[in-house]
Amino acid sequence: MNLLFLGTSAGVPTKSRNVSGVALRESKGKGWYLIDCGEGTQHQVLHTKLSFHSLKAILITHVHGDHCYGLPGILASAGMGGRKTPLTIVAPAGIQTWLEATCEVTQLSLPFALEFICSDELPSVEFENMAVETFALSHRVPCYAYAFTERNVDAALDVDKWISKAFPEGRCGGS
Ligand SMILES: [Zn+2]
Repeated sequence: MNLLFLGTSAGVPTKSRNVSGVALRESKGKGWYLIDCGEGTQHQVLHTKLSFHSLKAILITHVHGDHCYGLPGILASAGMGGRKTPLTIVAPAGIQTWLEATCEVTQLSLPFALEFICSDELPSVEFENMAVETFALSHRVPCYAYAFTERNVDAALDVDKWISKAFPEGRCGGS
């Protein structure tokens, strides 16, 4: 897996850094997970090769706006882009309440189902190639960390490259 930082400026954005959002990409294929979705995260995604069609799940750490205000927009854009596959959202209970109210008030009818998993219950969630565990953090509101374990990862150690880095002057072997 690898990480792509979409936003590292908590609280408010700056001209060069958006509010919270991290994309975690699977080692193989185009599958990815979005951890937190501050306002403007979908604009950050536009600067990458990530596709909303291959988004496996969105995981929200806590209800503060800099971590979730981008959700309605990103879901609406995924729908406008033709996504039909159900999407899992792992988040505190309040997020489901807020998102469903937002969809209703703004008459946002998504062409794909949302499957909510409540992070308040510290769930373990299984995806096709990824297992996710939830851990409680200390914050002013209930807050969670997500630990990802990827399955079926090919060993990818480049032995020649490792030796050249570990022994840059060719000092391999005993003396
Ligand atoms: Zn916060």
